[in-house]
Amino acid sequence: MFYIGCHLSSVGGYSGMGRDALSIGANVFQYFTRNPRGGAAKDLDPADIKEYLEMAAKHNFGPILAHASYTINPCSKDLRVREFALETMADDLDRLQNIPGALYNFHPGSHVGQGIDDGIILITGVLNAILKPEHTTLVLLETMAGKGSEVGSKFEELRRIIDGVELNDKMGVCLDTCHVSDAGYDIIGDLDGVIEEFDAVVGLDRLKAIHVNDSKNPPGARKDRHEKIGDGTLGVELIANVINHPKLRHLPFYLETPNELDGYAREIALLKRLRKPSADAQA
Ligand code: FE
Ligand code: FE
Ligand code: ZN
Repeated sequence: MFYIGCHLSSVGGYSGMGRDALSIGANVFQYFTRNPRGGAAKDLDPADIKEYLEMAAKHNFGPILAHASYTINPCSKDLRVREFALETMADDLDRLQNIPGALYNFHPGSHVGQGIDDGIILITGVLNAILKPEHTTLVLLETMAGKGSEVGSKFEELRRIIDGVELNDKMGVCLDTCHVSDAGYDIIGDLDGVIEEFDAVVGLDRLKAIHVNDSKNPPGARKDRHEKIGDGTLGVELIANVINHPKLRHLPFYLETPNELDGYAREIALLKRLRKPSADAQA
């Protein structure tokens, strides 16, 4: 199964996102759990969730990727900012108990001058405070571009966060193609080598989702500006290698390119054309 989709607006609820996904040929999608400017998440609507789950079963949808608001910072210097991140993430996870099989992705945060070591301690502290044995949602650390003082642009940092989490069977990673290139990993020249390095440091069993984005900037730029597929420095050939890679191809792929629905529909159609049958299917 090729799980391919994109980031969607959540204004129409889960069933609305499911309908949007179907309308653009997607079978997975990502959404923000709440408005980036903060504020309460929408009330859960059981009828909406039921409608979505029926749709998802009928059309063989893959996992929903719930993306935490990117304005939260679990490793801020400011205690109140860290508490806000903790409360927001705990509430998101409680709500996601209603969406079986969902994944929850977040940016590890920015240490804002405290240093990587203190940043990692603060992030693991937040995760240890919010993760409960009964949670069914896997929590994913996103690989970051390394903009400013972002934690998580090196695979070693993700490993250290995971190692610090007591319930780390609930932890995974979401790899963003724009971010890892911006962070200095040579996915253009040596995709196999980067995947091997990820496996050695983090373990490929932790990798649960891929953000497929082209990048406006050259490798190592630490900028984090996404580009449409084929219009950036990564290029269509690399993106095709990513979605077809034997060690990645089973994962769900989510586009976060600068597009509206019609642009996403075109990119999803492009990626479906570029997707090769698996070796198993050919055998
Ligand atoms: Fe993200
Ligand atoms: Fe991303
Ligand atoms: Zn990004």
